[in-house]
Amino acid sequence: MLFTCPMKIKSIIKTSFLRLFWFQYPARYIMHSSSVNHYYNAMKVKVLPALSDNYMYLLIDQKTNEAAVVDPVDPATVIQTAYEENVFITTILTTHHHWDHAGGNVELVAKMKGKNLVVVGGDERVQGVSKIVKDGEELKIGSLSVKCLHTPCHTTGHICYFVTSQTSNCPIVFTGDTLFIAGCGRFFEGTAEMMNNSLNEKLARLPDETKVFCGHEYTNTNLKFAQMIEPNNIDVINKLQIVANLRQNNEPTVPSTIGEEKKINPFMRVNVKTVMDYAKVNDVIQVMAYIRKKKDSFKL
Ligand SMILES: [Zn+2]
Repeated sequence: MLFTCPMKIKSIIKTSFLRLFWFQYPARYIMHSSSVNHYYNAMKVKVLPALSDNYMYLLIDQKTNEAAVVDPVDPATVIQTAYEENVFITTILTTHHHWDHAGGNVELVAKMKGKNLVVVGGDERVQGVSKIVKDGEELKIGSLSVKCLHTPCHTTGHICYFVTSQTSNCPIVFTGDTLFIAGCGRFFEGTAEMMNNSLNEKLARLPDETKVFCGHEYTNTNLKFAQMIEPNNIDVINKLQIVANLRQNNEPTVPSTIGEEKKINPFMRVNVKTVMDYAKVNDVIQVMAYIRKKKDSFKL
């Protein structure tokens, strides 16, 4: 086991370190990014940085002041923010069971005792889960509609949450560790075929204008990797400049859009000639497997 899963061991060591570090230095004092708001008419998304590079999100229906929180690994910050925003949280939307996403669920439920928080997730490994959802299942957060998209590969139970509002023609999607800006999650529990289905069959079919809010601030490294694969991709070059400016000011690089990802994300461009040429194969699944393997050992 020790010799067959080096990435898992690395992940456990990182998780243990973060847990120790987090308790010694609460995340709100060592933010990797600033907290920002995005407004889509009645829908508001508050970006809440956590740990060393995670994002939690408060999804607010401004019509009713009902809110959901995505991957609340730092419950104290979530509770404080909900209080400041004057909203009531009814639902935890968990993208997957890894500690840096689901690790705050039980504590948040305990701290909000009596509020009957529903803990949504894709499998029973999600801490505190009270509602296991299936692909296509719909939920309501006030007047907002949330569609659960099963996107297995990083974990077998991974769920993305696609949110629409009657007052806005700008949908959003929370993609956890399936789709990052210009990248994707490691294939811990799945295959290249599964990731291809999740990214290029399911998420790619969302409207191009859909805003993408992902689970980690990995954008700069991902773009450098994308540039190695497609050195002449002008959209990657332009995005690198935008991201450099944002990071200089400690601002989050989320959101991107599905349409933008199709231009800059090599994992959503496995059928594009330049990416196929880089991998020296013309089967999209083989391209996906090849570039993920390259990314696993890529360092800046
Ligand atoms: Zn993960």
